[in-house]
Amino acid sequence: MIVLSGGTGTPKLIQGMRRLIPDEEITVIVNTAEDISISGNLVSPDLDTVLYLFSGALDDARWWGIKNDTFHTHAALKKIGINERLMIGDIDRATCIFRSELMRQGASLTEATQRLSAAMGIKARILPMCDEKVDTMINTPQGLMHFQDFWVGARGEPDVLDVNISGVKKAKPSKEVLAALESGESVIIGPSNPITSIGPILALKGMRKILAKKKVIAVSPIIGDSPVSGPAGKLMKACGFAVSSPGVAECYHDILDVMVIDERDTADEKEFPVQTARCDTMMKSVKKSEALASSILGLLGDI
Ligand code: GDP
Repeated sequence: MIVLSGGTGTPKLIQGMRRLIPDEEITVIVNTAEDISISGNLVSPDLDTVLYLFSGALDDARWWGIKNDTFHTHAALKKIGINERLMIGDIDRATCIFRSELMRQGASLTEATQRLSAAMGIKARILPMCDEKVDTMINTPQGLMHFQDFWVGARGEPDVLDVNISGVKKAKPSKEVLAALESGESVIIGPSNPITSIGPILALKGMRKILAKKKVIAVSPIIGDSPVSGPAGKLMKACGFAVSSPGVAECYHDILDVMVIDERDTADEKEFPVQTARCDTMMKSVKKSEALASSILGLLGDI
């Protein structure tokens, strides 16, 4: 099973899916457009969340970082005048150092991720969407900001004029991503942010064309007129999409077969360009994630 993922909504779904499918049969293609260099090392927030989910180390109360990690290095740096743009835990930082050292020696992000997966005993195939550097930049009245400066630094408060995925025009899906897509017929787009998590993956050269030939099912991260969490609403609006599940379906209109919306959603079926299915998509427990994953697998079987 192939899943396209960001760092919160889709990993929650994968947490349930792992109870139904062996890890060996799961491939996750992960957004890397929120990656950022911190104190000389590459932090890849979405990749790391997915890696830690599979390794069992994830802090799944926050959906980032490692359970019971400490922040001594981050605090010590602050004390001597280095204010890091993201809070990086000490063990989490080891992942970033390992990755960055390999990359400094010439490894690609994909190779470094394979080495990390092996070192963590992970059986699933976790693939960065590409090996080129791509950056989600948020255009605000205060100027262009890296996504992390907008969301973490400025707490998502600035108005958003536009979103620019810098570098994506020159980026292509890695050969490992292409091979994975070649060998699978179904793709799940989890309930991730359609603009900043799934948008960069779909913007890679040739990606939409490949996905248009697959069975694609997506889960809406928007219920009614607001996201379950995070800045998806503000960003969708800035990009000209309705903040609603039909708006999410519109983002994926050319590649989508089925849109899964929440059973509480007020949207009418007629508002969608594709077939819909209603499920309880609020993954408040692993049991609920598993139930949603089970419904999705059932729906894929019916397409
Ligand atoms: P990010 O990389 O941390 O931004 O994470 P993602 O893009 O993977 O996920 C963020 C999206 O997940 C937000 O737009 C939320 O609305 C959505 N989300 C989080 N939890 C849930 C949930 O339980 N159900 C649904 N339907 N969406 C969720």
